[in-house]
Amino acid sequence: MKIHEYQAKAFLAQFGIPVPKGEVVTTPVEAKKIAAELGNKVVIKAQVYAGGRGKAGGIKMANTPEEAEMRARELLGRRLVTQQTTPEGVPVSKVLVEEAINIRRELYLGIVIDGTSRLPVMMASEAGGMEIEETARLSPEKVLTSYIDPPTSFQSFQGRKLAYGMNLNPEDIRPAIELMGNLYQLFLAKDCSLAEINPLVITTEGKLLALDAKLNFDDNAIFRHQDLEGLYDWEQEHHIEARAAQLGVTNYIKLDGDIGCVVNGAGSTMSVIDLLTQMGGKAANFYDTGPAPTSEKIVNAFKIITGDPSVKVILVNIFAGMGRGEHYAQGIVDGYLQTNTRLPIVVRLGGTNVEEGKRVLAESGVNYFEASDLHDVAQKAVEIAKGVSTR
Ligand code: GDP
Ligand code: MN
Repeated sequence: MKIHEYQAKAFLAQFGIPVPKGEVVTTPVEAKKIAAELGNKVVIKAQVYAGGRGKAGGIKMANTPEEAEMRARELLGRRLVTQQTTPEGVPVSKVLVEEAINIRRELYLGIVIDGTSRLPVMMASEAGGMEIEETARLSPEKVLTSYIDPPTSFQSFQGRKLAYGMNLNPEDIRPAIELMGNLYQLFLAKDCSLAEINPLVITTEGKLLALDAKLNFDDNAIFRHQDLEGLYDWEQEHHIEARAAQLGVTNYIKLDGDIGCVVNGAGSTMSVIDLLTQMGGKAANFYDTGPAPTSEKIVNAFKIITGDPSVKVILVNIFAGMGRGEHYAQGIVDGYLQTNTRLPIVVRLGGTNVEEGKRVLAESGVNYFEASDLHDVAQKAVEIAKGVSTR
């Protein structure tokens, strides 16, 4: 789960990491008020779930409160397109108004879980800021790494090694090591999958400060953290996926084709999507029902799929294993009838109680195309999507 920069900074502050003074606002007038309170130059920062804001015009400087209001007006209510977003971009409904900082150096500091070693790894670089991806690609030696052994936690010798590696001045070494330790404590305490400060700056006054912050949390651990509840900003997500998640239709990923897919099993879903592509078709979504889904869950999946205007045909591929054929069939019938859809539907049903399942479908009055196997269901769906009759 992602959160916004202003929320991430509140967590950093809780863990003793210095951040600039500032406040998040939703209107230009509030931006002016906060700028006046801060009393000096300010930075107006678009709050979106994407990096690369600086290069995309999502970070603006303002010398006066009036200017802050103008800059906030330019950002609020717009969509921001960055290197990390789709071409449609992400909506800007909040901006962070912060005291402007005079920067001496821009560093990078981040922690992620390394899948290979299965350990948290701290990454640090003296070349922080907006070019860090380029640096990692062209001069990987400039990104230092240090693996953290959870039982012994982050050790100060690791911090010293990273701090010297970043060529910090002697007086900055100690605060940097302390900050690294604090970032790891935050990472651990909140079950983060990513904790990143880019840039971590040294100000002209010689202070270490987190100028930007990004925290992602492990979705499987959210239930352990009441303070994370309600922080997710649904507006930032593709509207169809957001609606799916709100209806409890998990594992739904919007794709750019026109064949809506209801499939059980993640591997099976991927096979279907591959087959469709091979046959010249394109899936509108990835959706794995999971084993033995309730009828309500399938109905909700139908609501999402039939609500996607790009869908021309619904493909159902179910191989009943843990669930029974007639239960899946009833869910499909309920989904089709309750959404009042007119879309053509191709159904391949196999596995446990397949005969009972077919009877449920036949007696339902749903006018569906029957497919015999995986290949057949994909082929029929592609033909229908292309406007070729299959009967
Ligand atoms: P990102 O592009 O989405 O990662 O946004 P950041 O918050 O990292 O800001 C991008 C860049 O804007 C930083 O690397 C800084 O160079 C610059 N910037 C942001 N805030 C300030 C500030 O208060 N003062 C100065 N001088 N530059 C800033
Ligand atoms: Mn940044």
